[in-house]
Amino acid sequence: MKSTISGFHQDQLGDWVADLACGHTRHMRHDPPWQNREWITTPEGRTRFIGSVVECKVCAESGQEGHMTENEAARKREQQRIAQAVRAACLQAAIEAYEYAQIKGLCQEGAWDLAVDAVKTLDLDKVLEGLPG
Ligand SMILES: [Zn+2]
Repeated sequence: MKSTISGFHQDQLGDWVADLACGHTRHMRHDPPWQNREWITTPEGRTRFIGSVVECKVCAESGQEGHMTENEAARKREQQRIAQAVRAACLQAAIEAYEYAQIKGLCQEGAWDLAVDAVKTLDLDKVLEGLPG
């Protein structure tokens, strides 16, 4: 989620913290070579960044579901539908192969190999075609 910087303050350790328009805060450390923000150390630099757009992690985490558009929600439902269909098909293939192996009298290890093979070679196109509309 995007937010804008409305001001700055220092925390107890003297690190600079940006106040965001959304009411959250974000640390803006100048810690070279990992974080290079020399501008944060001067009043001019900080003034320059007021009003600039930054990513707010708190908003992104707390508002994920609530801020999803109808399109995004529909896309997620579709992805879940496909994922569930693939899981069901994998399970079915594994169970069928395992039962087949037991009927054929294969040992545990052989039955397991067959079940894993069945999942590996599962025809995904067929799974997708068979998706309930
Ligand atoms: Zn926020």
